[in-house]
Amino acid sequence: MMNFDLTDEQRLMRDSLRSFLLKECPPEYVRQCDEDEAFPFALYDKLAAEGWLGLPIPEEYGGMGGSCTDLVVFLEEFAHHFEAGANIFYTTVVIATDALVHFGSEEQKQELLPRLAKGEIRFAFSLSEPNSGSDAASLRTRAVLEGDEWVINGQKMFCSCAQEADYILLMARSDTDAPKHKGITMFLLDPKTPGVEVRKLKKLGLKPMDLNEIFLKDVRLPKDAIVGEVNSGWMNVLKTLDYERCCLSAVNVGAAQSCLDKILTYTDERQQFGQKINSFQLTRAKLADMDMEIEAARLLLYRSCTLVDRGIPNNKESAMANLYSSETYVRAAMSGMRMMGGWGYLMEYDMQRHFRDSKLAEIGGGTSEILRIIISRELTK
Ligand SMILES: Cc1cc2nc3c(=O)[nH]c(=O)nc-3n(C[C@H](O)[C@H](O)[C@H](O)COP(=O)(O)OP(=O)(O)OC[C@H]3O[C@@H](n4cnc5c(N)ncnc54)[C@H](O)[C@@H]3O)c2cc1C
Repeated sequence: MMNFDLTDEQRLMRDSLRSFLLKECPPEYVRQCDEDEAFPFALYDKLAAEGWLGLPIPEEYGGMGGSCTDLVVFLEEFAHHFEAGANIFYTTVVIATDALVHFGSEEQKQELLPRLAKGEIRFAFSLSEPNSGSDAASLRTRAVLEGDEWVINGQKMFCSCAQEADYILLMARSDTDAPKHKGITMFLLDPKTPGVEVRKLKKLGLKPMDLNEIFLKDVRLPKDAIVGEVNSGWMNVLKTLDYERCCLSAVNVGAAQSCLDKILTYTDERQQFGQKINSFQLTRAKLADMDMEIEAARLLLYRSCTLVDRGIPNNKESAMANLYSSETYVRAAMSGMRMMGGWGYLMEYDMQRHFRDSKLAEIGGGTSEILRIIISRELTK
């Protein structure tokens, strides 16, 4: 039996985050960050000051020690107000926390985690390359040990928030003779290191979250600038996939719910043929579908994070939650656009932002095709 009811503490956390975001992250702020393509520094600092950045970080390293379900509750609420903000939080704090907690040395944990919780440092995660996306383990960026230093050469693609990061968790090939999954190491790269060049990529949506490509030319790192074991970097990626898919699903569910809430208001106000457009049966059917799909996505999500918190592997369940929530979000944004007619096409309404932002949900963290492959693989084992 699984109970998906939130605890009193989780309800309290969600309500207090909601009050915080209503005050510090109103719709005008979200629109401005989108229009200016600006990283939300002011909000980030306030989240840090209130202790929210420490949610996934263990208490002994200055955080709150939240569970996966706590984090899901947080991200769902955050994404309801500001989807790019929730993605930024996930990218700059959660991925790194997860990697450091599981694979970092005690020294790294003590040095980095408390500063991460205080918002003094930010992280980015760089796995993808121009020629390796879905087949991520075929990456070619090369790391060679020369004496006491690693020398890194190559090019990384699609690294979110690298521009704003103090450290990049960089995946590079440290053994070319080993099978592709076994010769990869996770490096701790300070992007100010000589030989590193970070360039901004222009993209469709999620404008406040920068996307970068990274060029590495004879970049020298100390021998111990790695997270986990040499040649075991792929393990770092695999170990945390279920957890990460829960986080991404939470963002999708929160953002999809935001589409529904906005369109409920709009269709209740807009009149055509002398009546509210929410009185038309065709509109009502769309609203019913949206609500049902979001609820189904939420149930898949809460099942998955409950399994993570119980330590039960849930490769299929988390892939299902990720896949269904991402496609639900895309459909919700599309449906919202349709119900707004020409008004949805205007930049002054938020639905176009969801329409642009939602597409990444079907790409990042595994494309819809890759997630279907993972689910079907479990079926035919
Ligand atoms: C905004 C944004 C932010 C990102 N942030 C990060 C980040 O911070 N760090 C990072 O490392 N990466 C990041 N990525 C990269 C992202 O993870 C990849 O884009 C994604 O994994 C897909 O890889 P690809 O784009 O190279 O597509 P490809 O792998 O080239 O896929 C192209 C198409 O082929 C399909 N395909 C591939 N293999 C198969 C198969 N076996 N069977 C069927 N179909 C298949 C795919 O589903 C897709 O439809 C980001 C991407 C974007 C757009």
